[in-house]
Amino acid sequence: MSKVLYEKDIQKEVLLEKKVAVVGYGSQGHAHAQNLRESGYDVVVGLRPGKSQQKAEEDGFTVKPVAEAVSESDVVMVLLPDELQPYIYQESIKPNLQAGNAIAFAHGFNVHFSQVVPPSDVDVFLVAPKGPGHLVRRTYEDGGGVPALYGVLQDVTGNAKELALAYSQGIGSARAGVLETTFQEETETDLFGEQAVLCGGLTSLVKAGFETLTEAGYQPEVAYFECLHEMKLIVDLMYEGGLENMRHSISDTAQWGDFVSGSRIVDAQTKERMKEVLGEVQSGEFAKGWILENQANRPKFNAVNARENQHPIEQVGRELRELMPFVKKPIQQKQKDVKA
Ligand code: NDP
Ligand code: MG
Ligand code: MG
Repeated sequence: MSKVLYEKDIQKEVLLEKKVAVVGYGSQGHAHAQNLRESGYDVVVGLRPGKSQQKAEEDGFTVKPVAEAVSESDVVMVLLPDELQPYIYQESIKPNLQAGNAIAFAHGFNVHFSQVVPPSDVDVFLVAPKGPGHLVRRTYEDGGGVPALYGVLQDVTGNAKELALAYSQGIGSARAGVLETTFQEETETDLFGEQAVLCGGLTSLVKAGFETLTEAGYQPEVAYFECLHEMKLIVDLMYEGGLENMRHSISDTAQWGDFVSGSRIVDAQTKERMKEVLGEVQSGEFAKGWILENQANRPKFNAVNARENQHPIEQVGRELRELMPFVKKPIQQKQKDVKA
């Protein structure tokens, strides 16, 4: 088994002597900046004027334009939207990096697919928490952390690995365990996972189940509970104890149904298509399509998004969740409520 490292394996000193610029204060940025500060590290936040800047200042950070934050720091963590990183990197980050600095990322996409090419005289590392930013913050406040992958692409100082590890400690991930990877492995597995299983695979499975039931004449409310609402309960059991734990909790009838029907739904052909998706990730074809889609101002992304939000499962879901106050509101909705 690969070696998982924890706080006891990590020296804080390498990063304590340095100033860290956290560039961006969104989902990941707000969590990294606050966790690092509370772990004793010196943080400046790099941003443009706007909503995030106001929030970071309210949270007590010194906020500077990206160029300034980078030029006064030793370690620069890039937590900007992936599709904007190449532009902001060229304009404000690259010209202000000094030899011997370190540049870091929470996802390998831009570096792996050559959209950001760091100079050869800086350390380049990755610390990718395996969870959303709001959990990186919440688990830290609760004394825990979100596991992370770390990797080093360039080590000019001889300290890049220690820096990456100290950084993972600072954001709380070393409390949960950190695992070594490469930019390539992190990028390819992350893209495959979200496309085939976590996001693309899951939403398509849920919709297909809902459509099958409603097209057969069953009530959409019942189909919603069966195909979407109950998913969380099942996933929580898998998260806590794997497939075995989930199967232990469901009825034997459900378990028998799992055995006789599951492999007919996701069958050998589905797996063949998973391999196809992985192939497109590995070849750079997916990356190229996404980069071009952004350059074209996202015509397809926006069209599909609008259509998806109108799917009958979404319409019935909105109504049902209003009647279930115990179901937590999504983060987006909460932020709107606070503002309103
Ligand atoms: P968000 O979209 O949540 O936040 C982006 C931040 O960048 C905002 O604070 C935004 O500020 C700022 N920003 C946007 N444009 C500019 C600009 N021109 N100049 C300065 N600041 C700007 O991003 P995420 O936190 O989701 O993603 C950051 C990185 O973390 C990505 O590489 C992503 O892949 C990675 N990651 C994300 C995870 C997640 O949970 N979301 C999980 C693991 C990795 P403003 O308010 O001004 O727009
Ligand atoms: Mg991802
Ligand atoms: Mg049932």
